[in-house]
Amino acid sequence: MRAMRLHAPGRALSAEDLPPPQPGPGQLLVKVSACGVCRTDLHLACGELPQCRTPITPGHEIVGTVVGTGARVGIPWLGWTCGECAFCRAGRENLCERARFTGCHLDGGYAEYVVADERCCLPIPERYSDTEAAPLLCAGLIGFRSYQFIRDQEKIGIYGFGAAAHIISQIARAEGRTVFAFTRKNDLKGQQFALSCGAHWAGDSTEPPPEPLDAAILFAPAGELVPVALKATRKGGTVVCGGIHMSDIPSFPYEILWGERTLRSVANLTRSDGEAFMALAARVALRIETRTYPLGDANQALEDLRRGGLEGAAVLVP
Ligand SMILES: [Zn+2]
Ligand SMILES: [Zn+2]
Repeated sequence: MRAMRLHAPGRALSAEDLPPPQPGPGQLLVKVSACGVCRTDLHLACGELPQCRTPITPGHEIVGTVVGTGARVGIPWLGWTCGECAFCRAGRENLCERARFTGCHLDGGYAEYVVADERCCLPIPERYSDTEAAPLLCAGLIGFRSYQFIRDQEKIGIYGFGAAAHIISQIARAEGRTVFAFTRKNDLKGQQFALSCGAHWAGDSTEPPPEPLDAAILFAPAGELVPVALKATRKGGTVVCGGIHMSDIPSFPYEILWGERTLRSVANLTRSDGEAFMALAARVALRIETRTYPLGDANQALEDLRRGGLEGAAVLVP
């Protein structure tokens, strides 16, 4: 089978011919029909995620069909958990001490075939095509986990308007929330895109919102946005950092955290997040914007994501 492999951080992915993987006990062999390109893939290709093993086949937004049964499944970032550690036993398997992640510890979906733990595979709502469904597996899911921490809030700011934001703003809008979208300075195209995805207001992340936020989610991996978001958020509000990696957060005056504001991160996902999100995605007709690339163009897709300006999500099709 063809696969795009990362041999060392900082190197381009190389196209290789490999024998298809053999499923072990409890694993499914899945023929990949689409795999999303996530910002996390960019971080691991750049060496910003030291937990990643090499060589590795990246990709953790996988949609495919199970060889043998033909069932359509989704394979997310959470690839295996121990079920025994204190976090697993407390229902917080996203923090499992021995968790293995798809496309990070386990070979992922930048390939024609992948094996996956059956217990971690998710159902895909019928209304979405394979390429539309791929970004649901991480952009949608991690966005949803971030959103769940502030779901009861009315005015929600979203910093960084990429694949995750374009899905979550549609969900927030459908649930009657008011969304304020913040993009890179002067990214008028991005701001237009945000408005088309249900945001009520869109502007530069350097400017304050027209009214104080009740809560904010940061999808941009830029630490300097943390104090910016805290300043934009009212007393008692919450700022959620949704990314796996962020540049250093500059020091800031205690005053902008004081007033019982909460600053928190979101790490990984649980299987119950996956089930809840897929049920929601089946109910709400999400418009999923994708740009598809042939599998062999994975490096180009990563480069386009790095440069910015992608509307929605990049998806590889083998
Ligand atoms: Zn565990
Ligand atoms: Zn991801």
